[in-house]
Amino acid sequence: MITALLLSLYLSQDQNNLVLNPDFSLANSTKVGPDHFQLEGTTTWSWVGFSDETAIRGIRFNSFGAQAYGSVSQMVEGLDYTKGHWVKFTVRARADDGFSVSNDKLALKIDFYSKQGTAYIDSAERLIYREVQKDRKDFSVNGNNGKAGAAVWRTYLFEELLPFKEVDSLKLTLSFHGGNGQSKDYSQFCATDFSLIQEQSASDGRKEPEATLKQSSSTSSDQPLIQLGGRWFYQPTTEEHIALSSDGKLLKSLVINADNADRFFYKDDRMVNPFAGNMSAWLRKGYLDLKGELVKEDRFIKDNVTVTFDGSGFINIRARNIPNHQTAKFPDTYGTQGYNPSYIQEHDYQYRWPVDPKPSKKAIAMTDRDANGALNMGTVGIAVNGVAFYNPFDAGMQDASSIMDRCCGHPSPDNRYHYHKYPICVNTPFVDKGTTHSPVIGFALDGMPVYGPYEAADIMARDSKSNPLNAFNAHFDKVRGWHYHVTPGKFPYIIGGYFARWW
Ligand SMILES: [Zn+2]
Ligand SMILES: [Zn+2]
Repeated sequence: MITALLLSLYLSQDQNNLVLNPDFSLANSTKVGPDHFQLEGTTTWSWVGFSDETAIRGIRFNSFGAQAYGSVSQMVEGLDYTKGHWVKFTVRARADDGFSVSNDKLALKIDFYSKQGTAYIDSAERLIYREVQKDRKDFSVNGNNGKAGAAVWRTYLFEELLPFKEVDSLKLTLSFHGGNGQSKDYSQFCATDFSLIQEQSASDGRKEPEATLKQSSSTSSDQPLIQLGGRWFYQPTTEEHIALSSDGKLLKSLVINADNADRFFYKDDRMVNPFAGNMSAWLRKGYLDLKGELVKEDRFIKDNVTVTFDGSGFINIRARNIPNHQTAKFPDTYGTQGYNPSYIQEHDYQYRWPVDPKPSKKAIAMTDRDANGALNMGTVGIAVNGVAFYNPFDAGMQDASSIMDRCCGHPSPDNRYHYHKYPICVNTPFVDKGTTHSPVIGFALDGMPVYGPYEAADIMARDSKSNPLNAFNAHFDKVRGWHYHVTPGKFPYIIGGYFARWW
């Protein structure tokens, strides 16, 4: 009975995820391991935050000790070739500063099976340790006081084309070998939130080879895409009727929430779903609810973010501003967050900006310490999870970028959680490995998109010589139009003014 209840809870988070017990919250019959998963080596199942953080369950690999190894795996059933020829395996994980392996042996692996999981067909593996090392090189400066900016939760991804249409089961494995961590306490790799989703195309837009594409064309090609204005599109289901005027304007409001976020697209060099997986959140024990009352038990908030198109030429966003990732505990009694006395609270904010923002003659970039007031205090935009971006300052014009929790956020005196710099923890439309232009991670109040840090492979936009950012932290390219970039370690970190100021 309890299992059924919890299962329905998972489903409400992502009904397409085929992994059972994906957040590791349920114990197996022995009570010492997570249900549906197999653990090997030095892998343990426990809370995976520090004591000053809101804790969730997951597994820990400890790389301390000669040649340490470990793995966690699950046999996943119920694959259906007609639902998509690609499989997307993701894991949320955090590599502490001392986690170390030899020969890059930190891996995501998929074993493919047919005949209800009894006949092994093939396997594929992707090593991810170099991504850990790259983050350490690129983002240490993004952390608290310029340290540990890479030791935050982020998503690791492995996408594969199903090798045969007979595949009906998969074994998903996360493993490490040859551990050589140097310290007992900070040599861990923690993981949670396993996900396996079938998709029609890979997140970089790759489709299957021509031949298989033809076979699948009758499955779920749905209706034509509807352009909502600017770079925004919606893909209705076969049953859905979206009323449009003769010139293609919406006649009735279209509401996007967790149920249809994967049908809501933003177009740049590919079609992405920036809000998918970002519209729900957990209101955690110790946070405050909308009324300001202390939350006693974790509560799932399905409609943390809602987007509405009403044909007015504006996009309307309603956000409860609850972070959908790990946070530190606030008020901070441990001293790790500068004894911040504020809470993380549920709010009800509404934002509105043009669907097709344009550069503005009224745009003014911030001067030193924002002496010209080009950027207001408080919210200057939102990340794709609905959490506010602030300008670089806190009260008293102190640079706020060095007193954040490990997901780069903290609450303000009015109990609003916010970011002053690149929030690596936020789920992005595709996993940013720093090998191409970053994905969109949010929007400024002028409607212009904010992208992650990279301009091209191994080049951060902040360092770009060929297409440098202006004083607004914006630049133009033909594919994305005008857009902002976050600039880890470099003021103003998110935006330097409203380049498409429309008010
Ligand atoms: Zn702040
Ligand atoms: Zn760019």
